[in-house]
Amino acid sequence: MNERAFIIIKPDGVRRGLIGEIVNRFEKKGLRPVYAELKELSGETARSHYGHLKEQVFFDELIAYMTSGPVFAMIVEGRSAVANARSLIGPTNPVKAPPGTIRGDYGSDIDENVIHSSDSLDHASREIQLFFGRTGLLHKL
Ligand code: UDP
Ligand code: MG
Repeated sequence: MNERAFIIIKPDGVRRGLIGEIVNRFEKKGLRPVYAELKELSGETARSHYGHLKEQVFFDELIAYMTSGPVFAMIVEGRSAVANARSLIGPTNPVKAPPGTIRGDYGSDIDENVIHSSDSLDHASREIQLFFGRTGLLHKL
């Protein structure tokens, strides 16, 4: 089924010049970028995005990381986009992410794992509203 998924190339990915290569992987998989913004996250946006992790010991470091430079936030469209995007990015910890996945190929530590992808359509909708201010982008431009 055709879906839209929400992706963030995190500050380390942008800093290291990986936007092109990463977008290319989504395109090769059949997930077409339909909207994107290069933007600096406010602390408030970063804390809201990762609000479910606020009790974790790594939370402050995570927020510092996510606000350390611009991110490339993007919506991709394609069949089973949410599940396909999660499978393309690989497991959370790059040490455990197999080669061939984005985190497996470009990341080396869980502190900087290059990329985010929503884990459900509901969360994609919430994240698109938070980042772009328009939930409608989940369905059409
Ligand atoms: N994270 C971290 N240390 C941890 C676990 C998670 O820094 O021990 C960060 C990491 O950037 C991860 C994000 O918190 O991508 C969200 O964690 P989650 O468990 O939701 O993983 P994801 O859905 O990104 O794979
Ligand atoms: Mg998650």
